[in-house]
Amino acid sequence: DSKAADRTVDSVCPYCGVGCQLTYHITGQHAEDERILFVEGRDGPSNQNRLCVKGRFGFDYPRHPSRLTTPLIRRPGVPKGLDPAFDPARPLTHFAEASWEEALDVAARGLVDLKAAHGPDALAGFGSAKCSNEEAWLFQKLVRTGFGSNHVDHCTRLCHASSVAALMECIGSGAVTASFMQALQADVVLLTGCNPTINHPVAATYFKQAARNGTKLIILDPRGQALDAYAHRSVRFTPGGDVALYNAMLNVIVSEGLYDDAYIAEHTEGFEALKAHVSDMTPEAMSGLCGVDPDTIRDIARLYATADKAMIFWGMGISQHVHGTDNARCLISLALACGQTGRPGTGLHPLRGQNNVQGASDAGLIPMVLPDYQPVGDAQVRAAFEELWNTTLEERPGLTVVEIMDAIHAGQIKGMYIQGENPAMSDPDLHHARGALARLEHLVVQDLFVTETAQFADVILPASSWMEKDGTVTNTNRQVQLGRAAVALPGEARPDWWILQEIARRFGLPWDYAHPREVFAEMKRGMASLDNITWERLERENSVTYPCPAEDAPGADVVFSESFPRTGGKAKFAPTRPLPPDEPVDAAFPTVLITGRQLEHWHTGSMTRRSQVLDALEPEAVASVSPSELLRLGLHPGEALTITTRRGAITLKARVDPLMMEGMVFVPFCYVEAAANLLTNPALDPDGKIPEFKYAACRLGPA
Ligand code: SF4
Repeated sequence: DSKAADRTVDSVCPYCGVGCQLTYHITGQHAEDERILFVEGRDGPSNQNRLCVKGRFGFDYPRHPSRLTTPLIRRPGVPKGLDPAFDPARPLTHFAEASWEEALDVAARGLVDLKAAHGPDALAGFGSAKCSNEEAWLFQKLVRTGFGSNHVDHCTRLCHASSVAALMECIGSGAVTASFMQALQADVVLLTGCNPTINHPVAATYFKQAARNGTKLIILDPRGQALDAYAHRSVRFTPGGDVALYNAMLNVIVSEGLYDDAYIAEHTEGFEALKAHVSDMTPEAMSGLCGVDPDTIRDIARLYATADKAMIFWGMGISQHVHGTDNARCLISLALACGQTGRPGTGLHPLRGQNNVQGASDAGLIPMVLPDYQPVGDAQVRAAFEELWNTTLEERPGLTVVEIMDAIHAGQIKGMYIQGENPAMSDPDLHHARGALARLEHLVVQDLFVTETAQFADVILPASSWMEKDGTVTNTNRQVQLGRAAVALPGEARPDWWILQEIARRFGLPWDYAHPREVFAEMKRGMASLDNITWERLERENSVTYPCPAEDAPGADVVFSESFPRTGGKAKFAPTRPLPPDEPVDAAFPTVLITGRQLEHWHTGSMTRRSQVLDALEPEAVASVSPSELLRLGLHPGEALTITTRRGAITLKARVDPLMMEGMVFVPFCYVEAAANLLTNPALDPDGKIPEFKYAACRLGPA
């Protein structure tokens, strides 16, 4: 009832990269009694008043009884590890409450001492794509100027690092070339390795709207999905057969002369080499690898190539492979060969996952680049940041998420600071990742709850939820948007930027920010992408797209119409060859395990499983299999199913999903009681360093 609300605050959804704008309706006048009553969609550029179930109902987790409201320090002698009897509703026996002064001193001293004893390479940090741009900037600045290394990363490594690697290599920019709203102007939209209805629900409404208006949707994926009902062609390919399929499409485009000669000559380099490279990858030669018949391959290649305006969208079904970078290279080649970038209704769009994974990456939460993707190895780049920060910077790129876990086991990394990420649930091969966390000599975790990762911590610092702070975030469309504090912080919890500043000061850094707007002002001095976007402008307009040519002009929804940001201004074709999965199925492990998200839950579930409505909708761990697979196993829906890989086993309820192929099982990774990542393969893509979450050989059986 809107009349029951005392006030409203305009902000942005804290979940996915769509970045829906919303309004919180709040009751109560004081910190103790105020609460968010309900949430309404607002007329933002990427949602036009729409919200999905998470945005609409997932707002109550900050007031969950298990919310951290005071700093905690591990009691002496308590061994580190995941406590199987852990119950957030019970008093914490492993940790003792502490004052902020004491907790910050212990947190920082442990890290400072390790650096003094073993050097800067002994420390690493994970920032968070759930935090604001300003917090991401401060986190990477702390690691680079305080810890003294580039060992800083975040969850982009687990979602689109391979896409970014390919985009940087081929077009010179890691962000999308056009917003998803441009789908409304396209004649053909190719969606591959993504399931927007589940993962980017409001973006999916634009694809449906486009289809209703006559846009032809081509969906390529091993799994079926709700958008199939709107598709002109929906094609299932063999898991891991993507590079073969895309190369066969390129072969058709080349052999039938469907490419755009003029565009290729003016805007690209390397097409002759690509032509020669794909000449033997005919639909007939690739059909066995990708499981798609040659006529269908020809049909979809012609549909895409002959469209006047066509866009390609992809998701983690493409990126999370040992050949994830190759997948993205292929999709970029398709767009370049057909001249499908730089105009309205054309473009390349990796659908970004977290609400701020684009912004956190832009802000430099990446081990090989400083903010705006400027290489740490470039002396000129370093000199500019050394002047800005009055420091000396390390030139060697740092380690990535999974490499940091390996380096802990190898004895190199001894201390970590983890802000808002949950590697004890999100990393591949959790026995390995949790073993690494337990080995750390000093671990500081900054979060809202005693997450699975926080259970390994020496010090836990109670942080701020999105509803409790001001800050900017950048969505998948390159729209920088302003979030506003809606409710007060509970108990002793503090804003993340304040906590980071206190740790930095204990490293001897003279930080003195009074508000996130001052951090944003500093970011603008190091990030040309933020030119003409000011905090004041965001307060007025709520959302501005980068790049933006002037303070009174809108940002560019479509980029690279004239040239690409590479030396010489031309984009590059990067040929690829099909590679088998790292761990192909065999007689002992004959089924393909894929992992991902559910509509109702977000990543490791730390927020949505503490949200009443969302938890009621999906309260327990399930594994989705095809009806025939269930029949073969002799199981009924809801009965217990055990999934075993070379790394572990989990037992959870079987769910029938007619959209699943036989020979596949899908498990969401948000359930600690049946943690999907106990099973996943940590093998990495050599370029993006992303693990192969979308293919592990497994065995199914009744529990
Ligand atoms: Fe939030 Fe994404 Fe849903 Fe929009 S689509 S309401 S941003 S979770």
